This record gives sequence, structure tokens and C-alpha cells, in this order.
Amino acid sequence: MKIKVLTLFPEAYAGLTVGILGKALESNKFELEIYNVRDYSADKHKKCDDYPFGGGAGMLMTPQPIYDAVQAADPSHECLRVYMSPRGKTFTQNQAVELSKKDNLLFLCGSYEGVDQRVIDLCIDEEISIGDYVLTSGDLPCMVVINAVSRYIDGVLGSESSTDEESFSEGLLEYPQYTRPQEFMGLKVPDVLLSGHHEEVAKWRRAKQIEITKALRPDLLEKK
Ligand code: SAM
Repeated sequence: MKIKVLTLFPEAYAGLTVGILGKALESNKFELEIYNVRDYSADKHKKCDDYPFGGGAGMLMTPQPIYDAVQAADPSHECLRVYMSPRGKTFTQNQAVELSKKDNLLFLCGSYEGVDQRVIDLCIDEEISIGDYVLTSGDLPCMVVINAVSRYIDGVLGSESSTDEESFSEGLLEYPQYTRPQEFMGLKVPDVLLSGHHEEVAKWRRAKQIEITKALRPDLLEKK
């Protein structure tokens, strides 16, 4: 998969070059291309923002640099083009799985008070939000989405990690997990996990998943 990001803050993406994703990028499990929108500004001072027509607080990203950056990054519209936006549909694990099946993704990250509506109308296929709150730019949201999506790309997670049995994988939260030591600060690992009885372990985990989901996220059970 090739992921293209259009941003005013390319340096923020150093955050994706560490840990599991850093290794995946190094070994070309997926590709990441960062476009600095400012490089495409036709303004002699490389200005990319201006006052909103009709008044209001703050500045908006102007359409020309974004439009030209999109044309440079994705001239024949091979990418699914996503604008990171608080008014978009809230991102979920299911959407991460769907996006991971695409060959080409492009993310536009807004700054200031957002972008001129015309670039959304002209260039964007869908808007994605990471939650009902407003951040200063689309970069953290974009990195959240890239992180979640790339976990579903073949070879990104080592064989020791899996997306099969984790929170949201079947509309349920994950069961409690324990590692060594068997007792810590007086708290013991549940006996069943030490029993070596795989069927009993599976039954216990399923029951815990349902119990925890009921307690913490009953809305997930309603959707099942
Ligand atoms: N004026 C906009 C509004 O009220 O919806 C908020 C603009 S926000 C300060 C600047 C940029 O951050 C947006 O253009 C968007 O790209 C990004 N952003 C902020 N919050 C976000 C969220 N919850 N999900 C996705 N992107 C977000």
C-alpha cells in the first residue's frame, strides 16, 4: 500500500518512523510519502492561509496550494482521498480494516480553522474524524488512522502479534491478560490461565470479554 499525506507539518511524521511502524516502513511493508502543502503555494512568500469570507475567528487554508499538492500527489485519482476533519464520520476498527484493503490512500490534514470548502468539493472522497473534539491540525488524527490501518497490512505486525483476538475484533472488548510473575502485590493470575486447558481458557476469556464489554461499553453489545 502507498500512503500519501498532505500537510503543513511534515516533521510531525517522524512519529511514524519508530517501533513497529518504523520497521514496517524500513522493510517496505507499506510506503509513506509526505507532501508539504507549503511547497505548492504560488504566493511569493509561500503563504497558505487567509481570512474567512463572512468573518469569524482565525484563518483558513487557501485552496490553491492544497489543490496543486493533490494534483502532484495523485494526478490520476488512484488514491482514496480522505480529509481529516472533526465533522467526518467517526473512525472505527471496521473502517481501519476496510481502508487497509486499498492500494493507495491520500490524507489531507487541515490546519488553522480548516480548509476552503472548494478543495473538499473538488478533491476529497470522504471525511474522517477521530472523535468529537477539535485538535489544532489533522496530523495527529492522520497518524492515528495510519497506525490503525497499517496494523492490518500483511507483514506489519510480527507473527507474535495478531489483530484477531483484540478489542473490537468481534464487536467485543479484550479479555484481561496476565504475564509473569504468577503473583504480584498479592494479586494472583486466575487459575484457569495456568491450567493448560485450552478449551477452559477460551471459555473463560469469552465470558470475560462479554462481562467487560457489558460493564464498559454496553453500546457495542447493542450493535451486535
Ligand atoms: N474549524 C474546524 C471545526 O470547527 O470543525 C476545526 C478546525 S481544526 C482547529 C484544524 C484541523 O484539524 C482541521 O482542518 C482538521 O484537519 C483537523 N482536526 C481537528 N480535529 C479533528 C478530529 N477530531 N478529527 C480529525 N481531524 C481533526
